[in-house]
Amino acid sequence: MAIPPPTAAATAAREILTRLHDVMAGRASAQAKLNTVVQVIGETLHSEVCSIYLLRDGVLELYATRGLSQSAVHVTKLALGEGLIGTIARNVETLNLAEATAHPEFKHKPETGEDLYHSFAGVPIVRREQAVGVLAIQHEAPRRYDDVEIEALQTVAMVIAELIAAAGLVDEAATATAAARSGPAQLTGLRLVNGMARGHAVFHQPRVVIEHTVAEDIEAERARVYSAFRQMREQIDRMTSQAEFGAGGEHQDVLETYKMFAYDEGWSRRINDAISSGLTAEAAIERVQQRTRMRMREIDDPLLRDRMHDLEDLSNRLLRIVSGQLGTAAQLGLRQDSILIARNLGPAELLEYDRRRLKGVILEEGSLTAHVIIVARAMGVPVLGRVRDVRHKVSEGDLLLLDSGQQRVLVRPTGPMEEAFEAKLAVSQKRRAAFAALRDEPAVTKDGVRIQLMMNAGLRDDVAALDVTGADGIGLFRTEFQFLVSASYPQRERQQRLYRDVMETAGDKPVVFRTVDIGGDKALPYMKTEGNGEENPAMGWRALRLSLERDALMKAQARALIEAAAGRVLHVMFPMVSEPWEYEEARALFEAQLHWIAERGRMGPTVIRYGAMLEVPALAEVLDQILPRLDFLSVGTNDLTQFLFAADRGNPRLAERYDWLSPAILRFLARVAAQCRAAGVTVGVCGEMGGRTLEAMTILGLGYGRLSITPAAVGPVKAMIRSLDLAKLREAMPGWLAEAPRDLRKPLQSWAAKHKVSID
Ligand code: PEP
Ligand code: MG
Repeated sequence: MAIPPPTAAATAAREILTRLHDVMAGRASAQAKLNTVVQVIGETLHSEVCSIYLLRDGVLELYATRGLSQSAVHVTKLALGEGLIGTIARNVETLNLAEATAHPEFKHKPETGEDLYHSFAGVPIVRREQAVGVLAIQHEAPRRYDDVEIEALQTVAMVIAELIAAAGLVDEAATATAAARSGPAQLTGLRLVNGMARGHAVFHQPRVVIEHTVAEDIEAERARVYSAFRQMREQIDRMTSQAEFGAGGEHQDVLETYKMFAYDEGWSRRINDAISSGLTAEAAIERVQQRTRMRMREIDDPLLRDRMHDLEDLSNRLLRIVSGQLGTAAQLGLRQDSILIARNLGPAELLEYDRRRLKGVILEEGSLTAHVIIVARAMGVPVLGRVRDVRHKVSEGDLLLLDSGQQRVLVRPTGPMEEAFEAKLAVSQKRRAAFAALRDEPAVTKDGVRIQLMMNAGLRDDVAALDVTGADGIGLFRTEFQFLVSASYPQRERQQRLYRDVMETAGDKPVVFRTVDIGGDKALPYMKTEGNGEENPAMGWRALRLSLERDALMKAQARALIEAAAGRVLHVMFPMVSEPWEYEEARALFEAQLHWIAERGRMGPTVIRYGAMLEVPALAEVLDQILPRLDFLSVGTNDLTQFLFAADRGNPRLAERYDWLSPAILRFLARVAAQCRAAGVTVGVCGEMGGRTLEAMTILGLGYGRLSITPAAVGPVKAMIRSLDLAKLREAMPGWLAEAPRDLRKPLQSWAAKHKVSID
């Protein structure tokens, strides 16, 4: 990067900052420093008046002035929105006026003696995107100020923001009031995990706190920014080439934009220029970002605004690198009941949060069956996805009332809003209590059919839900979760300990362990697979495909499971079986491990029951070949639907496109159920679909007798089962399937309503 010569604006600002540097470092009182600041600015810009107003108790108070009457200091006060000063602060905008009195908001303050002055320029002093004061200059002669002067003022305003923050002059209560003035808001999104939550906004990637704004050594600051740019570009290049982001869709668009900005010479030149004006690297990045933000306000093009948000993201990334403040909110720790805000998250990132304080999650992206959502569901954390712009409409610490069932979040709610929310929460807790009362009741339909109602789990703590919900067992234990939450590959002994603990906690209830399903959106950071860089990881080298080739991994897991199940029945199932031979190989690997253990005289399981997951449609075409070898089959509707519809389950743009109750899926499921029944093989559904009451009802109607669902859904689904006349539903089903309308949801809903099935 060549160093451009400093611009005129940089030179003007630098002159002021050089003089301010010693003032800032001195031991004088804050008031004395502000008095000097107005002198320095006034002299350098040859302005007759220079004044600083600070927000105190929600009001802007004249704190220091050169040129106006000194007796007005601490006397002249303006409310937010009042006069030119109040307008600048309220709108966080710059005013540049040749004739101040001609502005509609002008307000005469006779005690200041400002009648003499015609021209006026004022800039907000900003902290955390809110005005905490105003810096203004005035001249007798009517003239508009040059951009150079405005730029210099804006730069100096940043330094003043630091000075007043260091002096404790920022009125936190008043700025909080200012935030509250931006008023309550309602944001809408897509329900990803149902539930209600109350908590304070926490950003997954917290904003960097800038401690120093005036540079000690400009060349050193320049070097820091260069190195940060280099690191950021490397990160972006790596992300672009990495598997987890390579799957197209919005990530791809975002990354392309990131890349464009990361290499944008204009951006780096502006930052460089801000450093030339005497700012530190951090302050320079922020200064340029502030300017962009101000411009953005004037643009009314949503597309362009989206792009600007990407630039903001990137700017924050650069700030984090340069300041070394790299931690996520999880690493910093949650201090109160919190609602987490992020563009998107990985499952491992979510699991880093303290479960006791994490009450909800709001994502700008997100889709129903992404693994982070499955994890959130298992944690019982409501999630609202696809909330556009949330990171710009919510400030850190804002109170949020999340109601994902209603697809909305209330931001900075009023008292009555809070009351209504609490009342609804109480009702929903009552309903939950009613479901909990069903815990010891069997999952039997009204016409006497016993359904096996099991739950999904993946972590040690999840297993406690067996007792709480009264589920019949664990129908899907996602063993890869242990791999996801570990910092390194979990050794066999650790795996074995987990499996044994899980089986012991489950007691007599069966636990179906699924062998690791790594890859796709479950990439392990510490495992450098050849899968990295795949264009389409969900359809790539994952799950059983990876396990059969990396058989050391699968052998260790088989040994861990077999030894953990000593003296018990072991249920194992394999993910992503596409052809029967894959199942045979996996099964043979387990048998070989069993043999190895027996040879050494160690106790193994009393019996191993083997199952396969049906999530690749191809397997359905050869079911007749595999069924005789299976003890059970489990349909994974998350992957199955993504492959049936060729619609990436993690792509937010497709999140609402296809319905689980579409004829294609239902016919497919019906066919599989019939074949399994004919072959005498137990068949169930373990995808997220089964956790929704109407969908669960439909699955039972299609001939399934086993569901494995997220723990929170066990109560509502059991209530549904107990209110259902299954024979009647199964009678009606073939008619719907044969002449399926586009939307099967409606007839199913009306059937449920007519027959009083509990589906809400
Ligand atoms: C599925 O694909 O439906 C499933 C249950 O497995 P996972 O969600 O872990 O891929
Ligand atoms: Mg799957």
